[in-house]
Amino acid sequence: MCAMNTPQNRKAPSSVYPSAVRELIEQLAKLPGIGTRSAERLAFHVLKSDLESAMALSSAIAAVKQTVGHCQECFNLCDGDMCSICSDPRRDHSVVLVVEQPKDLIALEQTGMYRGLYHVLMGRLSPLDGIGPDDLTVSHLFDRIKSSASADDRKPIGEIVLGLNPTVEGDGTALYLASELKGFSVLVSRLARGLPSGGSLEYANKAVLADAILGRQSMG
Ligand SMILES: [Zn+2]
Repeated sequence: MCAMNTPQNRKAPSSVYPSAVRELIEQLAKLPGIGTRSAERLAFHVLKSDLESAMALSSAIAAVKQTVGHCQECFNLCDGDMCSICSDPRRDHSVVLVVEQPKDLIALEQTGMYRGLYHVLMGRLSPLDGIGPDDLTVSHLFDRIKSSASADDRKPIGEIVLGLNPTVEGDGTALYLASELKGFSVLVSRLARGLPSGGSLEYANKAVLADAILGRQSMG
């Protein structure tokens, strides 16, 4: 057998690159949906682009990590203490729509059909992965309802709309929240079931999401 052709002697494709290029390819390949081939294509695009464009990309990535955090009230993405939705006096502060992730909030917001506030759980209950209520922002939601009831400067929260994704874990989380919320004097509703089972709010089209908001159903 010829030693030249053994797998051990064959160099991995990325090892022919200078180390900085190899590092860039490795980092790009960690992005969702990007395999090694796509990462190589992107790395070559960066190599070919002018310094200004490449640095703009690099600073945009750094800025997003250094300046964007979560709203203290609803956990939406924001670059201050409170997001633009929570601080908007024209929104209906008595209705709070509970979602799993900021990207779900963005999908619902893009319908333009909802004028209340949100609460981002930062995940969903997943007993098999060891994710319980304490790993989410559940207790903060309950605190929000309690503190709104005694606040003089704003309307108390009167309705919680559960906008979890229509998956087994999303449904389990909704049932848990509906049960816990019985201890509060709030109406509990959920988005209407136009959403495909097993799907994700993030990818639902605007018309379906708008119908889901308008046709929400009481869970009481
Ligand atoms: Zn907020």
